[in-house]
Amino acid sequence: MSTSNFNGNMMMVFSQLSGVHFSFRKVFFLFSFVIFLLGLIPTAQALGSITAVRIWPAQDYTRITLEANQAFTYKMSMIKNPDRVVMDIENIDLNQIIKSLAEKIQANDPYIKQIRVAKFQQNIVRVVVDLKTEAKPNAFTLTPTGDYKYRLVLDVHPMVDPLMAMVAERDATNVANLTPDSVAQPVASETVESLPVQKNEPIEVSIESPEVNGQNAEQNSVKEKAQPINDSVNKSDVKKVGRQIVVAIDAGHGGEDPGALGATGSREKDITLMVAKKLKQQIDNEPNMRGVLTRDGDYFIPLHGRVVKARKMQADLFVSIHADAFNNQSARGSSVFALSERGATSASARYLAKKENESDLIGGVSLDDKDPILARTLLDLSQTATINDSLKLGKAVLAQIGEINKLHAKRVEQAAFAVLKSPDIPSILVETAFISNPEEERRLNDEAYQEQLVASILLGIKKYFSTNPALAKSKLALE
Ligand SMILES: [Zn+2]
Repeated sequence: MSTSNFNGNMMMVFSQLSGVHFSFRKVFFLFSFVIFLLGLIPTAQALGSITAVRIWPAQDYTRITLEANQAFTYKMSMIKNPDRVVMDIENIDLNQIIKSLAEKIQANDPYIKQIRVAKFQQNIVRVVVDLKTEAKPNAFTLTPTGDYKYRLVLDVHPMVDPLMAMVAERDATNVANLTPDSVAQPVASETVESLPVQKNEPIEVSIESPEVNGQNAEQNSVKEKAQPINDSVNKSDVKKVGRQIVVAIDAGHGGEDPGALGATGSREKDITLMVAKKLKQQIDNEPNMRGVLTRDGDYFIPLHGRVVKARKMQADLFVSIHADAFNNQSARGSSVFALSERGATSASARYLAKKENESDLIGGVSLDDKDPILARTLLDLSQTATINDSLKLGKAVLAQIGEINKLHAKRVEQAAFAVLKSPDIPSILVETAFISNPEEERRLNDEAYQEQLVASILLGIKKYFSTNPALAKSKLALE
């Protein structure tokens, strides 16, 4: 059979050929196996490096930030007796930078006693955070943003929100001690203990305070500062006092979020804090007004958190202080912004709101910090009435700032600023000046100029109240 003979011959040739191929295949598999084994051996290049560590201690919470050149893999656990947080960070090199965490803890940190860093297992670095008291840790990671690489953040929160504890204490004290006189007294303490409870009485404000032209304002503030707080109460200045006006003063940026940077290195977050503290001081010197700060140190608060704080403090007004940069160094002048529900009033307002809203990305917000129920409630409420009040307030403040600095825009601009979204508190954002303009950067650092600036903001606030006395609005029950 020719067909079977042909098949038999072919089989013979094929088996000879495959014998030769088999030895090649053996070498190939052996080679692949060696490569595979090599791949299993960890190499130095696979380890990530910590490039920076930062600690932001504050009464609100203490934040620890680790920054690395690659994404973090970690496990967090909480151990009792004594209370400590353990962070096991994988595939990271135990370098000098991460070791330096131990020296960065300050003795007066409200929540952290000490930090220990050591190699735990092959390629695992263990960071132990010893707590001073029971606390709530919250860890999360952030992907590269702005100048930052990958970040691992550990926030150590107190068990009870310090603000809520103060509000509860204040309410208890007020129920016990509430008299017309005690309500009218200004308060020397930095806390919110003595904030008034009821908000339904009419407010009248005397605006007999000095005209804001540099000299007078400066001399006056020096005079006021020299007086003991209790002597600054001049009841004849007050026509009628129902209760104190509470102004929430929001120092923009802070902590991980430096804000804009000036040509000579000034950071917006430092300028805004200095100005905010001065504004609080001048407001507290008024017999019937009280300033409360959303932050009083160098730490970050999410934008939404600032809104929540102002509401918890039962603020009548919200003033956010900024000093941003513009890509053009010659841009200068002050401006005032309010919220818009329907797009921005100019391209520059839209640009600025977008930049300001990026604060959460740079400062670092964990998903836990976002309160979905409150966020939805805030969105659902029409803010038209509050925005109208915000515009009136903004106009009054802008007119006064116009007396001491060039204005960048002659009218109050509007855009979707997240920090201005209080549904029931008239809110403005004051761009005091451009930190990117060398001349304005110099003035922003000048104490006398800061005093003039806050005197003009205060006068604007007082003018707003004098023309809109029926401010009392029932608070919306959101909480
Ligand atoms: Zn800003």
